Order: sequence, then C-alpha cells, then structure tokens
Amino acid sequence: MNTLKRIDPRRPFTITAEGLKRITLGMTAGAAGSLEPVAASAAAHREQVKARRTTAAPQRVVLVAAHADRGALDDHARQTLAGAALIADTLTEVVLLVFGEFTGDAAALGADKLIELPMFDRRRFAPLDELNALAACVAAYAPVHVFLPDNATGDGDLGRRYAAAANASVATHVVEIDATHVASYVHANTAFAARSLPDVVLLAPNAVEPKLPFVGAGERVVWRFDGASAGAGGGANADARKITVRDLGIEEIDAAQLALEEADFIVSAGNGVSDVPAFERLAATLGAAIGASRVAVDDGKFTRDKQIGATGKTVEASVYIAFGISGAVQHLQGIKDCRHVIAVNLDASAPIAKRANLTVIADARETIAALNEAAAAARHARGTGAALLNSSAVAEGALA
Ligand SMILES: Cc1cc2nc3c(=O)[nH]c(=O)nc-3n(C[C@H](O)[C@H](O)[C@H](O)COP(=O)(O)OP(=O)(O)OC[C@H]3O[C@@H](n4cnc5c(N)ncnc54)[C@H](O)[C@@H]3O)c2cc1C
Repeated sequence: MNTLKRIDPRRPFTITAEGLKRITLGMTAGAAGSLEPVAASAAAHREQVKARRTTAAPQRVVLVAAHADRGALDDHARQTLAGAALIADTLTEVVLLVFGEFTGDAAALGADKLIELPMFDRRRFAPLDELNALAACVAAYAPVHVFLPDNATGDGDLGRRYAAAANASVATHVVEIDATHVASYVHANTAFAARSLPDVVLLAPNAVEPKLPFVGAGERVVWRFDGASAGAGGGANADARKITVRDLGIEEIDAAQLALEEADFIVSAGNGVSDVPAFERLAATLGAAIGASRVAVDDGKFTRDKQIGATGKTVEASVYIAFGISGAVQHLQGIKDCRHVIAVNLDASAPIAKRANLTVIADARETIAALNEAAAAARHARGTGAALLNSSAVAEGALA
C-alpha cells in the first residue's frame, strides 16, 4: 500500500497534451485508473480547428531548415519554425526544408510548404552535401531570410557553413526576435546586441513559444535534389567542394557506460521502486542509462553519480521514464530539457504527472515486471538475445 504523501488526492485532474493536469474545479476525480472523468475531459479539450495564417498569394519566402530526429522535429526546431511563421506577414510564405525523413504535420507547425530530404540522416555526417542542398533550395526559392535552430546537432553548423559560403549576413545564438530585429548576448553575456534581421538567423532554444494560433498551408513539395550538381546550381559552395569529409560513423556503446548527461534514453527510479534488480534488468534490456531520485540514492539503492536533479545531474534525454518518482521541484530541475517524459506512478496527482507527456497510473514493480516479460517474449519470438527495444520504439509506442 502506498503510504507516501500525496499533494491532494481529492482535487480533480484531467488529461491534456502536457500530461495529467488538475484544471477542472467542482468535478470529483475517479479512483486512479478510472477512465470516466479522463475521457469526458479529453473530449471537452479536443483541439479546436485553427484558421490558416494567410491565404494571400505569396510574394516572398522565409526558409526554415532543420534536421529531423526519428521522423519529427524537436522542440528547438519547432520553435524556429514557429518563430518564422509568427513574424511572417500575409504575403510571406514559410517554406520548411527538413533534412531526414519527416512524418510530422508541417501545417500544424506553421509551414506553408514542406520539402523533405529523406536521403539525409542525422546519424550520417555529410556537411557538404547538406550545404549543397541548402544552397540549391535557397537558389530555387530566393528566401528573404533563412532560419535554423542554433544547435550542436547539425543545424547550427550548417547555418554557419551556409552563411560563410554564401557571404551572407548572419546572427547566431539569437535569444530575441520579432519582425524587425534580432538580439543576442555578447561579451560573455555581459551585453545585449540587437540588429535588423540578417540573411541567416540562428535561433537559440526557447526564444519562441511554439504554440501557434494558426496553421500553415502544409503543402508537400516534391523536390528532386541532385547532390552532384546542386552545389554549382546553388553557387555557394565552390570552395567547399574541394574539401573532402570522411564519415567515421557512429560508435555504439553500452548505455550503462554513457555519462547520464549524454544519454538519449534514461530509465529512472525513485522511492516507489522496490525491486532494483528487476529495474536494472529492464534498463539493460531497453538499452537505457540508469538514473535515480535523491531519495533512492540516499537509501543506498544507487550510487550518487546516478542522482538526477538540482544537486545531481541535468539530463537531456529524448525519452525519460520515471518509475515511482514524485517529481519534486529539485528533481524536475534536472529533467527540464528532456523531450518525452513518461511517468509510472500510483498517484495521478503526483507533480511528475504535470511534467510528463504520458502518465501511467500503475504500480512500478508490476509495470517493470510486465515490461521485462514483454521483452523476454519478444526476444524469444525473434530468437535473439540482443536488446530488442530501443528508445524510439518505446517513445513511439508509448506516445502514439
Ligand atoms: C536542497 C535540496 C536539493 C535536492 N536535490 C535533489 C535532486 O537533485 N534530485 C532529487 O531527485 N531530489 C532532490 N531533492 C529531494 C526532493 O525534494 C525529493 O525529496 C525527492 O526528489 C523525492 O524522491 P522520490 O520522488 O523518489 O520519493 P518520494 O517523494 O517519496 O515519492 C515517491 C513517489 O513514488 C510513488 N510510488 C510509491 N510507491 C509506488 C509504486 N509501488 N509504484 C509506483 N509509484 C509509486 C509515490 O506516489 C510518489 O509519487 C532535494 C531536496 C533539497 C531540499
């Protein structure tokens, strides 16, 4: 039985895109696991149909380029696209160029046109081919500005390469933007510099709220990119083509050896996890790094280097599964940059549910045992001893 403190179990909760939230007053919450109030409120909060940002004939283009991550744009890329859509006037078309396969809803993210280049993959290092593709796209659409997320996973580098090759004006680490200016911190963050919008805008994270009150046209454009000739067509890359780049590939290492700060997939245990060996078996099966709350570490269940939070590590995983963690503010501080948070907790009103994209109201021990069993069954069916699940499979399955 759970004897741990709950915030206020009588307060009602409902499910939203951000996870479970207690936003409806005067409604009695059902017992944990009861679907009735959840289903009713989900219907009430169904997304309203949004209007198109503009239907006028476009006279200008703003180009947004970003790498996809497993078929989707990450938060930073979405913010960048939203930034372009928010500052575009009614005669400006927002064209989204995605490096890699993209299965998301471009219109909902604010794009009027989508060009997908599935031949590129974040796992393959092809900076010159990408530069050629971007230059060719710029040559085709003549955008007034090119926006990219200023990240360390390909886009920041591509934007700088493009600006240098095309001799374009550029602003990097842009933390503030509107239709007339961009601004960045300079001189080791001691000063704030502003200027008019340059040719290339590299946006820092969280400069834009990505929730848009409108949608774009979202028209998918079939665009044949010929890597061999596009550089010449783009005209921005003659010197760059003389440089050769050798892709040494990505070395896979055991998730347990990975520094938590670098892990893309973390399973984390709190005070609600009692069967630590089963939890560790699950982490090994999923190929996930192990994290823990401070209480679990203080109890001696995990070493101090596993602690996540204000006085532990800050992590940026794509998938963070919190088993039996309440979500105290000090813990949440350590996972603020995680992309998908999945909580497994007996208490639907635990603060972690507010942060989680998906909350499973269930016993941690039973859930871990069920996942271990499912992995064993899958392993048996496929006749292999190798880890069978990976972070993207879990994330997609859980968040579908
Ligand atoms: C200065 C300071 C710094 C701190 N730094 C950190 C830090 O870096 N990191 C950190 O994590 N904490 C930190 N803390 C502690 C923090 O405030 C919390 O006490 C701690 O995070 C709680 O850990 P927990 O969620 O595992 O445990 P609890 O608060 O005990 O919560 C356990 C959760 O598990 C759920 N549960 C119980 N049984 C089950 C079950 N069988 N199945 C499923 N769910 C179950 C409960 O509903 C509850 O939500 C700090 C505190 C202070 C004051």
